[in-house]
Amino acid sequence: VPKLTIKDLHVAIEGKEILKGVNLEVKGGEIHAIMGPNGTGKSTLASALMGHPKYEVTSGSVTIDNEDLLEMEVDERARAGLFLAMQYPSEISGVTNSDFLRSALNAKRGEGNEISLMKFIRQLDKKMELLEMDESFATRYLNEGFSGGEKKRNEILQLMMLQPRIAILDEIDSGLDIDALKVVAKGVNSMRDPEFGCLIITHYQRLLNYIKPDYVHVFMQGRIVKSGGPELAERLEAEGYDWVKEELGIED
Ligand code: ADP
Ligand code: MG
Ligand code: MG
Repeated sequence: VPKLTIKDLHVAIEGKEILKGVNLEVKGGEIHAIMGPNGTGKSTLASALMGHPKYEVTSGSVTIDNEDLLEMEVDERARAGLFLAMQYPSEISGVTNSDFLRSALNAKRGEGNEISLMKFIRQLDKKMELLEMDESFATRYLNEGFSGGEKKRNEILQLMMLQPRIAILDEIDSGLDIDALKVVAKGVNSMRDPEFGCLIITHYQRLLNYIKPDYVHVFMQGRIVKSGGPELAERLEAEGYDWVKEELGIED
């Protein structure tokens, strides 16, 4: 069973400390949601896990299956089974969606273990159907002229094709109308498996009406300040974040 373990993670950007001691464990079979006000460091956590060079880990540790994630290059992180939607390029001219997906999948599978074209196409068709994507999508150029909703759907298609062991999904719901939101949720829900763990980062609760997290964490001031079950997300939706600040004596 896959396991991502984050211990007392501190991260700085250009010398300024943004993450101030994040602790979290995500295991296979679990869906975690991180919610929190804007500007508190949620995306910084995702970028640091991805290995973005601008984000300097100043202390703490991150392991995937007890291996040091922070020592790995970005492509090694993917091979270790970590998926971050945003690690994939937003636009590469001249590369179709399908070409890109196949090379990403083969890069992950490794030399000598490439997927056959027939098998790849069969899988792609099936997943595109579940995501209610038009067939023409496969042969369009990667992200070129995609609407916001199409980009999000495409991220979920990448997720479903690459079958990672742990996925970090940052703001996959932003800018989606309700129908697109439901489709994105359907894709994520289809991934539910004991061999798959998921961390969903979101500013809004509404996505969690369609993807039921097992654990909900409140993120403030660069760390997780409170954890609970799905009922926590509902309370945040109804009452906002002020009560958490009061409860914990956090000043703005
Ligand atoms: P959230 O995702 O919770 O809205 P972010 O992680 O995007 O928050 O941002 C947290 C803080 O880090 C903000 O003060 C933001 O200005 C700063 N920050 C994030 N990314 C960068 C960056 N690439 N360069 C400089 N500052 C950044
Ligand atoms: Mg600390
Ligand atoms: Mg963010």
